[in-house]
Amino acid sequence: MSERVVISGGTVVTMDGGRSEYADGYVVVEDGRVSSVGSGPAPHVEGARVVDARGCVVTPGLVNTHHHLYQWVTRGLAVDATLFEWLTTLYPVWGCIDEESVSAAATAGLGWLAKTGCTTSMDHHYVFPADGGDLLAAEIEGARAVGLRFMPTRGSMDLGRSQGGLPPDHVVEEIDTILAATTDAVDRFHDASPDSMLRIGVAPCSPFSVTDTLLKEAAVLARDKGVRLHTHLAETMDEDAFCRERFGCGPVDYMESLGWLGSDVWFGHGIHLDDAAIASMAATGTGVAHCPSSNARLGAGIARVRDLRDAGVPVGLGVDGAASNEANSLLEEARHALLFARARGGPQALSVRDALEVATIGGARVLGWDDQIGSLEPGKQADVAVWRLDTLPHVDIVDPVAGLVLGDRPPLELLLVGGRPVVDRGVLVNVDEDALAHRSAAASRALLTRAGVTR
Ligand code: ZN
Repeated sequence: MSERVVISGGTVVTMDGGRSEYADGYVVVEDGRVSSVGSGPAPHVEGARVVDARGCVVTPGLVNTHHHLYQWVTRGLAVDATLFEWLTTLYPVWGCIDEESVSAAATAGLGWLAKTGCTTSMDHHYVFPADGGDLLAAEIEGARAVGLRFMPTRGSMDLGRSQGGLPPDHVVEEIDTILAATTDAVDRFHDASPDSMLRIGVAPCSPFSVTDTLLKEAAVLARDKGVRLHTHLAETMDEDAFCRERFGCGPVDYMESLGWLGSDVWFGHGIHLDDAAIASMAATGTGVAHCPSSNARLGAGIARVRDLRDAGVPVGLGVDGAASNEANSLLEEARHALLFARARGGPQALSVRDALEVATIGGARVLGWDDQIGSLEPGKQADVAVWRLDTLPHVDIVDPVAGLVLGDRPPLELLLVGGRPVVDRGVLVNVDEDALAHRSAAASRALLTRAGVTR
């Protein structure tokens, strides 16, 4: 049951088209949606829970546009490696995942995302061992348990090492198996309705782990089903060299030749893009999931966020990982996006409000979900984060948006998804945080033991 909730007395940052902010504002939630937002005393709503948000900033819930939840139980490995070194270390471990490891990892990872203000997360799951079980269903159950809005993508790899790809042959699948499983995933789980908590995407892994045939067929399948397309692209110079050597062109030209540019497509990372590639993506509405912490952790580079935004490319944020960004906090990605953009392009490269925009409505746009989520406006889903800014780390920061983006991560007073509390006074409502921790630790131990990794 969705509650009626009146959040009153806080600074409300709506991220609507006019970027309206109310220093002493309110948000009213009814039937799972925002019914009104404004300045001054909140209206009386019969039977509503009233949340005193004085000392708080109220924002749309954060939207995560790139992630690999299963990696939660393989964190802390190959910690000083490049992407290709890190992948070749981890592929054999990932080849041993099963329903329990994926379920434990997804529930823990989504629980932590909720605790850090995220209300909608995508997931890119692309490792499906032959005897691994129903891994997509396992992570979907995790999202249901935590209470987050979810867009898992049925990923895939079909280009093993013997065919010139990067992953070992035993972790790739046959193309027919992949296409059948992807169709099945959409048919079983995809909910396109306005109140949807679950949408499915199609996501072959990357140019160096997938054949051109699979990329083409996946695009046809996704468009036939009316779902979105995602892959990793332009993450490292190693990938760029791989594309030029194998395909005779850069990654974006390669994807364009396969029908993979469009407003229904978004790429993870998008770091090594020249002006022509950015122009192609802008002209087609192809989005980018910017993952600054993971990119820095792997030394992959810094995406040209200012240039992408100036050109009109939709940009959202992704925590990526979990094993290439052990922190998994979306607010930290907003902070890193701002800091890295400014380190690269000067103090005007990304404002504090731009950083919050890419974390919220920007991400919603990248996921093609901005008609329902990403801003606090009447009629939209009540996905709302209420952050405490009246404790030691933030109490004297003059601009609350700066406090949120530039300061340490504030305590989360309340997190609503579709009007339902998911975090209340810093505590996960639907799952027990300690139980998630114990379960993920056990799943990690079991997985690493199966994979022969000594801790
Ligand atoms: Zn990734």
